[in-house]
Amino acid sequence: MTEQRIKNLQALLSDQGLDAMLVSSPENRRYLSGFTGSAGSVLVTANRAWMIVDFRYLEQVQMQCKGLDVIRQGDTVVDTLRSVIEQEHLSSVGIEDHALSHRDAGHFLNLEKTVTNLRVVSAGGLVEQLRTRKDTGEVDTIRKAAQIADAGFEHILGVIRPGITEIEVAFELETFLRRQGASHIAFDTIVASGWRGAWPHGVASDKPLASGELVTLDFGAVVDGYCSDITRTVCIGEPTSEQRSLYDHVLESQVRALHALRVGMTGREADALARSYLSDHGLGEAFGHSLGHGLGLEVHEAPRLSKVSDDILTEGMVVTVEPGAYLPGFGGVRIEDDVWFRPDGTVEILTHAPKELISL
Ligand code: ZN
Ligand code: ZN
Repeated sequence: MTEQRIKNLQALLSDQGLDAMLVSSPENRRYLSGFTGSAGSVLVTANRAWMIVDFRYLEQVQMQCKGLDVIRQGDTVVDTLRSVIEQEHLSSVGIEDHALSHRDAGHFLNLEKTVTNLRVVSAGGLVEQLRTRKDTGEVDTIRKAAQIADAGFEHILGVIRPGITEIEVAFELETFLRRQGASHIAFDTIVASGWRGAWPHGVASDKPLASGELVTLDFGAVVDGYCSDITRTVCIGEPTSEQRSLYDHVLESQVRALHALRVGMTGREADALARSYLSDHGLGEAFGHSLGHGLGLEVHEAPRLSKVSDDILTEGMVVTVEPGAYLPGFGGVRIEDDVWFRPDGTVEILTHAPKELISL
């Protein structure tokens, strides 16, 4: 599986006129090698791939990284890279400066001064571009992470009650996700109740939930490195007509977007599917963030579905669809699902938790 990914990167390198690429980002490294350790680099040339690690990981890479040659890192990865460059006669090497400290990036760039005829090029984003198109194994893993998130929502409905704090709800939810097989949570769980619901990213606080409040829960599970990301908003007690109307508008915008999403659209066109509906109903200003984002080894990755995104939606992508509306002092509603663009271009929704307004 990683063999195909390395081949895809080799094709991109040749398009870019690069002899090699040094991959340092943890997610990109894992994607290309299967290596789950916390340090190391993958070096890919036109016809070979190496995993460069220090002695702590030698045994782990033998087990996890089939198809890559292993190089034990010398004093520094820069020294090791220099010797491979010389041995393989490489004249242009891409680095992921976005994943390197300023200092390390400087060391790599300095190789140009000590190795004759070498170009070191900033090539961040190449592996990220490959990662946007998921293979079926990756989608199956995200689907599992989504199922755990769905189960988490069902579970937390039995926990939410007036008086319990947002932090207690988050803790109960996170513990449940872990018990269901999540290795981690995908990000700090958002529990935003009442007036705090007007903050789109209100990480759980010590505020107790109260009767009559809308509560937004945004959370996700990680399975084998892959994230799910779901949001649901519920009401404690019977919703007022204003709360119901806000909820119904957000839900309608989300369902419309899910039905109309197509392969070939730009991120901007996808974003407009929900935004135009909310704007027509006076909620354009209240929808202050973008419609969604790619989902995979990172919870926010390419593509972007936003007002300013020219990213093209293609087969294999997994993205979120998460319109919201936030009214200061009143509260907020957000509804988020994860979707996959199947190889035939149709859309499959991976999250299935109920979306009608639930009053608890
Ligand atoms: Zn989310
Ligand atoms: Zn999201």
